[in-house]
Amino acid sequence: MLSHRDSDHTGGAPAVLAMQTKATLLSSIEGDHALQSLRAATRFVAGQHWQWDGVEFEVLHRQAQEARLIADHRFKVDVLVVPHHGSKSPSSAAFLDAVQPRIALVQAGYRNRFGHPAQSVLVRYRERLIRLFDSPHCGAMTWHSAQPQEVKSQREQDLRYWRHHLSG
Ligand SMILES: [Zn+2]
Repeated sequence: MLSHRDSDHTGGAPAVLAMQTKATLLSSIEGDHALQSLRAATRFVAGQHWQWDGVEFEVLHRQAQEARLIADHRFKVDVLVVPHHGSKSPSSAAFLDAVQPRIALVQAGYRNRFGHPAQSVLVRYRERLIRLFDSPHCGAMTWHSAQPQEVKSQREQDLRYWRHHLSG
């Protein structure tokens, strides 16, 4: 699923599509976008939903604001991908209280020019004791529904030999 065409959301798609030869591409990208030549994208629409590997997926309309999710009160989640890279405006206190994630994943570039994730946003998550993981520190984060309490950090798993902890 590619939410929109920005390169930070689509840049890795050719590699993923090459690895996942049978995957369906869901996206809002335009019909003449270069990715369409690799695999025709199915346009996603609000209300689409499916279950995969015990995980519920539902497409919300891109204009749906956090306020609507709060009003619905049916969007409690185990894991939340922090909205918009942790920028200041989303992740309101009311939103976090409504969705009540146990784990939050921030996807942001290392030393990005926008300052994502914003400190004020991180404070909101920490105040609610939500476990936070971010890509600048983890590299890549892996979460699996079979071990829902665990988030694996690529940087922790693949430490350079000079960073290995000596035992004994
Ligand atoms: Zn982005």
